[in-house]
Amino acid sequence: MTGPLLRSPALSLQSPLTALRGVGERMAQRLARLGIHRVIDLLWQIPLRYQDRSHLTALAELQIGSEALFQGEVLRSEVRFGRRRMLLVTLADGSGEILLRFFHFSAPQQATLAPGTWLRCYGEVRPRAAAARVQDMLPRVPQSGKLEVVHPEYRVIMPDEPLSAEAAAVLTAIYPAGDGIGQPLLRRLVAQAVRCLVQTPMTDAHARIEWLPPQWLSPLGLPDLPTALQIIHQPPSRSDARALLSGQHPIQRRLALEELLVQQLAVRRVRQHHAAQHHAPVLDGPQALRESLLAALPFALTGAQQRVITEIISDLAQTRPMQRLVQGDVGSGKTVVAMLAVVQAVASGCQAAVMAPTEILAEQHFHSFRAALQPLGIEVGWLAGRLRAGERRDTRQQLAAGVIQVVVGTHALFQQGVEFAQLGLVIIDEQHRFGVHQRLALRNKGVSGDQVPHQLIMTATPIPRTMVMTAYADLDCSVIDELPPGRLPVNTVVVADQRRDQVLERVRAACGLGQQAYWVCTLIEESDVLQCQAAQQSAQRLAEALPGLKVGLLHGRMKPADKEAIMRAFKQRELDLLVATTVIEVGVDVPNATLMIIEDADRLGLAQLHQLRGRVGRGQSQSSCVLMYQAPLSQRGRERLAVMRDTRDGFEVARRDLELRGPGEILGTRQTGEQMFRVADLLRDQDLIPEAARLAERLLHEYPERVTPVIRRWLGEASRYAEV
Ligand code: ADP
Ligand code: MG
Repeated sequence: MTGPLLRSPALSLQSPLTALRGVGERMAQRLARLGIHRVIDLLWQIPLRYQDRSHLTALAELQIGSEALFQGEVLRSEVRFGRRRMLLVTLADGSGEILLRFFHFSAPQQATLAPGTWLRCYGEVRPRAAAARVQDMLPRVPQSGKLEVVHPEYRVIMPDEPLSAEAAAVLTAIYPAGDGIGQPLLRRLVAQAVRCLVQTPMTDAHARIEWLPPQWLSPLGLPDLPTALQIIHQPPSRSDARALLSGQHPIQRRLALEELLVQQLAVRRVRQHHAAQHHAPVLDGPQALRESLLAALPFALTGAQQRVITEIISDLAQTRPMQRLVQGDVGSGKTVVAMLAVVQAVASGCQAAVMAPTEILAEQHFHSFRAALQPLGIEVGWLAGRLRAGERRDTRQQLAAGVIQVVVGTHALFQQGVEFAQLGLVIIDEQHRFGVHQRLALRNKGVSGDQVPHQLIMTATPIPRTMVMTAYADLDCSVIDELPPGRLPVNTVVVADQRRDQVLERVRAACGLGQQAYWVCTLIEESDVLQCQAAQQSAQRLAEALPGLKVGLLHGRMKPADKEAIMRAFKQRELDLLVATTVIEVGVDVPNATLMIIEDADRLGLAQLHQLRGRVGRGQSQSSCVLMYQAPLSQRGRERLAVMRDTRDGFEVARRDLELRGPGEILGTRQTGEQMFRVADLLRDQDLIPEAARLAERLLHEYPERVTPVIRRWLGEASRYAEV
């Protein structure tokens, strides 16, 4: 790429890629598969991150874990034949030394790395890997500093060569490469697109890129998009670079707003599409059944429960499929709301399915739904993974025939191609760990023809409002913001493991009063075999330490029948202390349990701790939660436990969780690898989220023709949002 710049005078942002230098038909086709068709599309290849090659770092100043540009003279260069053949080059610059390690190298390459040569390198600095092992293998290579770089980018330089090429780019952008399109190529193409943008008259650039009217944006005080795109690809100054690296540049906010807007648009688009394509049965049957259920309850609904059930009943009476999220703090009484919705479906001649994430919770729901609904003449069935074949066949037949009106179960409900006579409502309990894409997939289950069931999702843990507006923007949201009356807040204490005796004393005292306790073992291991073993051992030790108390054990690897038996025994007060793994995290409801001990509590996330704590404080007596830890406590562990001790409100816990762990962790997207945003940061840009939602509504109403192109340039055509 050293030839003269051959730019056709007609090159514009709308030109096809073949108008660019270095792009032929085949390359254009490959880029098209990445959704890049025109010069302007390249501008929307937002860098994933940057490398800073603008200054040299002295070897003594190199930081472990950082990427850096550094240089030095080769002191030694040797090929080693250990378990793996490698080339080790020691570099020195007067301030210190560093080892360069190459596993793949050619003889000519090796020859250029002879002692006395000067190299300028770029790479990630790491601690010397297994220094001892290397030393064993290589007795003649003395330790040279403690740092190394594996396969650095490097080039041979003159001893006093000034920074030139490297310094030209203040930051080097790293692009989302793919399909055989590498970084250097993308960088060259984007650079041409940026040149084209710079040469485009400002009014034109605005017309092509900035589709939000200026009067919508000016109150926000954010830079315009043409400027933002130019800077994000080629930061012009050191101060821009610093701001970009720290995520604090105003253009990042402008792009974040655009990205959040696109997400809002995409989600609304999916919903509109869904509503237009499908309709749900109208569930407006008589309310007599609901009234019978209410009359049989030992309590009156709270105002919040009443409000939420009214919202649900009104949704159910529409042909537009309900997509509603019910949020409520632990213990706010979501189950009875779900039951009322189910009864409404049955009263309207339809079936309902209730899905829970774990078998224990599903079983518990099954029992409480059956206990509440059977007296009303409603047939409740059970469907989980581990049913015997005969039972499963019977249940399926009865579902298909419409004999079973309400079915409770786990994922098995939808995984086994179960047929319903007339499924009108699906309730998904405690599924806050589902990402948007997973939820969209789930939504298509239970679809028959153009009929879809109404859907109600109940979260285990409150979700911060801004997250609901993004990750759950595809749902309407109801909040049960009131606890049943008479609940006493759970008293939470943090206790070091050395004071275990005192904790045991508390257990003894509570059980002496006829109350019950949970003891949760949190050992986090990849293997749940180990986790269960640990719980078994704890149960044994506790039984020995607490003679006279009846101790039960519950863990994930027990047979379903055994789990059920233990839960039933605990519910019926035949057990005083239930030792369990975190399987009891969600939904278990035993109001007589007043004491929750959580071992190694600092290992758990806030949401999980809040859930566990929510297992107590469900009755009229004062409850406590003891968070135990093994000293010394890490900084993060200390913070988490302090939040738990000082905060009772689940929404506040959720907000702190978001701050401490970040959105990916909370939405479960870190595990699924589903990354929601390229630029937007749900923490930094929280205040932009309501703004983005508002602008999305306005764009849909005032400039509907702009919606598809705006979505396309961020999400590409391949995205599931653009498909619809
Ligand atoms: P969650 O919202 O955590 O799922 P549950 O539905 O399990 O909460 O309800 C927690 C407990 O509160 C249950 O024992 C339930 O019977 C009880 N409960 C629910 N609503 C009320 C109410 N309005 N008044 C009194 N107790 C209630
Ligand atoms: Mg619940």
